[in-house]
Amino acid sequence: MTGQRLSGKVAIVTGAAGGIGFETAVLFAKEGAKVVCADVNEKGVQKTVAKISELVSSGVAISFKADVSKEDQVKALVDKALEEFGKLDIMFNNAGIMHPEDDNALNTEERIWNLTMDINVKGVWFGCKHAIIAMRQSGGGSIINTASFVALMGAATPQLAYTASKGAVLAMTRELAMVHARENIRFNSLCPGPIRTPLLMDFLNTEEKKQRRLVHVPQGRFGEAIEQAYGALFLASDESSFVTGTDFRVDGGLASSYVTPE
Ligand code: NAD
Repeated sequence: MTGQRLSGKVAIVTGAAGGIGFETAVLFAKEGAKVVCADVNEKGVQKTVAKISELVSSGVAISFKADVSKEDQVKALVDKALEEFGKLDIMFNNAGIMHPEDDNALNTEERIWNLTMDINVKGVWFGCKHAIIAMRQSGGGSIINTASFVALMGAATPQLAYTASKGAVLAMTRELAMVHARENIRFNSLCPGPIRTPLLMDFLNTEEKKQRRLVHVPQGRFGEAIEQAYGALFLASDESSFVTGTDFRVDGGLASSYVTPE
C-alpha cells in the first residue's frame, strides 16, 4: 500500500530512531520522499536508515544525530537536509520525552519540568524556526508537530510537565499556522492517542495500568505507530493543501468519548 504521494519532496523526521518517528520515516521514503532521519540516539537512527535502504533503496535516507533542545544542532540538521537534498518541504517535529519522574503539581521536580519543556516545546520551536527559514527559499512546505491527546483532555493520572508541554505545542502550532499562512507554509499538530510504543508501554508496565486507560478508548485498544505515520503522511502530502492550524487527532475516538462501548 505504498506509492508516490511524496514524490520529489524532502523531509526531516525527528525522533526517527523509534516508535512514530521510525514508522513515519520509513513510510515517507516508501512514498517517494528523501528523508533526513534525526535523533539523539545515533545508533538507533542509523538502524532506521539501514531499514529504509533495505525496504526502499540506499541514498533515499540519511541519518543525523541531533538533540532538538539545542538550537545549533537543529540548525545543523536543517543545513544538512539542504546540503544533501537541496531543499526542505516537510518538517516533522516529532521527538519528545515523557519522563518517568513527571508527576503532579506537588511532586514534579523543577529539573524534570525544565527538561521536558526544553525537548518538547523548545525543540519544536527550534525545528519550526529553521524549517521556516529553509521553506521560504523554496516557496512553502508542511510542518507537523507531534502533540498528544493529553493536550486536549485531562487525566487523573498526571504527568504535568508533559501535558503542559503538549498544550504549548498545540498553541504554538496554531499561531505559526496563522503567521505563515500567506507564505504557503502549513502547520498542523498531530495528536496521537495512546500508542503501543516503548515510550508509553515502559510507563504502563502492568496490566492494571493498561486497563485503567483502555476503558476510555472507544476502539478498546492502543494505537499502532504506523497509524500515526499515515496521519503524518496525509498532513505532509499535497492532499492536505487546504489543511492548516488543526489539532489533527489520530486517537481511536478518545477525545470524542463520554461513555465507551462495553
Ligand atoms: P519513542 O520514545 O519511541 O520515540 C521518541 C524518540 O525521540 C526516541 O527515538 C528518542 O531517542 C527521541 N528523542 C528524545 N529526546 C530527544 C532529543 N532531545 N532530541 C532528539 N531526539 C530525541 O516515542 P513515540 O511514542 O514514538 O513518541 C513520538 C512522539 O509522539 C513524542 O513527541 C511523544 O510525546 C508523542 N506521543 C506519543 C504517544 C504514545 O502513546 N506513545 C501519545 C501521544 C503523543
